[in-house]
Amino acid sequence: MGRTLLTSADDPQPSPRTDVTVRSDVTVELVKSSASDSDVLFAARVSTLGEQSIGELQKDPERSKGLINYLMRDRHGSPFEHNSMTFLVSAPIFVFREFMRHRVGWSYNEESGRYRELQPVFYVPGEDRKLVQQGRPGKYEFVDGTPEQYKAVTETMAESYRQSYAAYQEMLAAGVAREVARATLPVGLFSSMYATCNARSLMHFLGLRTQHELAKVPSFPQREIEMVGEKMEAEWARLMPLTYAAFNANGRVAP
Ligand SMILES: Cc1cc2nc3c(=O)[nH]c(=O)nc-3n(C[C@H](O)[C@H](O)[C@H](O)COP(=O)(O)OP(=O)(O)OC[C@H]3O[C@@H](n4cnc5c(N)ncnc54)[C@H](O)[C@@H]3O)c2cc1C
Repeated sequence: MGRTLLTSADDPQPSPRTDVTVRSDVTVELVKSSASDSDVLFAARVSTLGEQSIGELQKDPERSKGLINYLMRDRHGSPFEHNSMTFLVSAPIFVFREFMRHRVGWSYNEESGRYRELQPVFYVPGEDRKLVQQGRPGKYEFVDGTPEQYKAVTETMAESYRQSYAAYQEMLAAGVAREVARATLPVGLFSSMYATCNARSLMHFLGLRTQHELAKVPSFPQREIEMVGEKMEAEWARLMPLTYAAFNANGRVAP
């Protein structure tokens, strides 16, 4: 999973205070869900069948597929809201900062830096993470870094993490409150949260936070939030295959 324990280079007997773990991955676990294509169908069919819509669910799979595709294509979005997925996400704070900009159809609860001591787990880019930005804002691309740049990034980040976590520990040891001491910790620190959404809000998120060859409207997300999005997408695709197929077939634009 790409985790390494690092200790201070000039500390021959590393103290626990200067040990930090670095990770290059993110984790996403689907902890709870009530989500299926039939949730879309009964919600849509109430328009024409009223309370009998629930009985129609299994009747004609081809018609069901066609109805979901029609709803997606014509952006009749509310039938995609009658379902729920709760994910446990572990990712750096800078990812959560972007994530929580998604206000509609999402609920969040994040671990607290006031009520618990934050653990020394930090993000460093993996070897496949493109490091260099070329071009101008709005029209730029990312390309691979050189081995020297990769070394500089990982070593500089690790040293900075060690120093800031040691400062955090020093303040805690001096009796300073966690909520004050945490100000020294960087956005590369890992955090965890529960994020609950429905298929419609997830599609809006995926349209903005993933790159995909089928996207009608390309987006240019930061790679690390895209890594979270890709893992959520895989779980959702399994739960709602017809809805997922219609999302892709209609250019990955949320209805
Ligand atoms: C590639 C990329 C780069 C970005 N760069 C920046 C940046 O530099 N700085 C920055 O601050 N943010 C940035 N953002 C965040 C972006 O501006 C949005 O806040 C974020 O993507 C959430 O999108 P949203 O508002 O559509 O989603 P949600 O908050 O989930 O809203 C969903 C939809 O509801 C409607 N809606 C929600 N709230 C309102 C409202 N108050 N009024 C009217 N309609 C509403 C809109 O139709 C919206 O699309 C970036 C996002 C992306 C994807």
